[in-house]
Amino acid sequence: MSSIVNPSPQPRTAVRGRLRAERTLGLAESVIREMTRLAFQHGAVNLSQGYPDFPAPAAIKEAAKRAIDADINQYAITWGAKSLRDALARKVSGQFGWDVNPEREITVVCGSTEGMFASFMALLNPGDEVVIFEPFYENYGPDCALTGAVPRHVALRPPDWSFSAAELEAAFNERTRAIVLNTPNNPTGKVFTRAELETIASLCRKHDVVAITDEIYEHILYDGAEHISIATLEGMRERTVTINSLSKTYSVTGWRVGWVIAPPELTDSIRKVHDFLTVGAPAPLQEAAAAAVAYGDEYYRELAAEYARRRERLLGILSSCGFHCYRPAGAYYIMTDISGFGFANDTEFVKHLIQEIGVAAVPGSSFYSHPAAGAQQVRFTFCKQEKTLAEAERRLQKLRTSRRKSAE
Ligand code: GLN
Repeated sequence: MSSIVNPSPQPRTAVRGRLRAERTLGLAESVIREMTRLAFQHGAVNLSQGYPDFPAPAAIKEAAKRAIDADINQYAITWGAKSLRDALARKVSGQFGWDVNPEREITVVCGSTEGMFASFMALLNPGDEVVIFEPFYENYGPDCALTGAVPRHVALRPPDWSFSAAELEAAFNERTRAIVLNTPNNPTGKVFTRAELETIASLCRKHDVVAITDEIYEHILYDGAEHISIATLEGMRERTVTINSLSKTYSVTGWRVGWVIAPPELTDSIRKVHDFLTVGAPAPLQEAAAAAVAYGDEYYRELAAEYARRRERLLGILSSCGFHCYRPAGAYYIMTDISGFGFANDTEFVKHLIQEIGVAAVPGSSFYSHPAAGAQQVRFTFCKQEKTLAEAERRLQKLRTSRRKSAE
């Protein structure tokens, strides 16, 4: 009997690639998430993936519970609950004096990961070039691969992770359609300065390029560093897509609530991609988000102060064990140089770290287009409770011992 659902019952051969889209074949598994799995498997203290192991603020949890009890359990408006979009518009207005229209310029999405991908899908055609600073957060490469965009990398060089303006300029050409920014930066902890952002902005204006900026660590800043949204620079708001989320600021990485702020025309396309991709972000959590983004300055000050303490703690631990640490000015990661340990590369080192020492971190090569560039770098996160950091410290002592032994 012929099937209405599948009228052509011709067998498809399970040849590599026949049953799968080519665009997925070159994609590697996320190294960051793989490290978390390995940490669980080997019982290692997980300083790899950047998620807090301490509770979210009681107030945000209460707000979510209240929303569920109030039966806010059906779809929100596809581009975001009005309460949240209004609260976000008030937040950026208070923060930067940036006047955003919540009806036409904000899209609530399922985390900044979706925000970034929906923006790529909405704004880029296959073959369009995208300038990406490296080291980079590992999603941007797959975002390019899935949309057919072509990444052009520009180096951020230690110790301060600055870039060469000449190299940046040389990366722009007539095919360039976007530049991806991430400030405060994962994995380096760099916070782009106003002068650097002006250099980027002038190239965007000159080449008619969109800035897609991931600002998820905007409130995690140290030593007086200032976060500047490139959208607030002269002539940039009409060509900037600003992506953010609840995850890091309110310690709820599993809630998957993020947002994209972009001019109306770009928002129009981003909303369409978002609608057909996910319909919407979790409705009760959007209500909780509306309450959270209205927190006063004190909340953000305390968040940054807490992380400053954790940063000092992990810098102390790692330095005393023989890592050379690049001191972050923002976000909650420490990039380290491991050349003092004499390992062939970062993956060998991390394997040893997880299996023999019992601490998980992220191999530096996963943040570079050419693995060799990160072969002597490893990233650690410090968004962890004191007892986790103390246990990591205890275990890392073995590294010091094994290092001394091998030096003898
Ligand atoms: N941003 C986090 C990190 O870099 C993790 C993000 C994720 O795995 N989705 O570790």
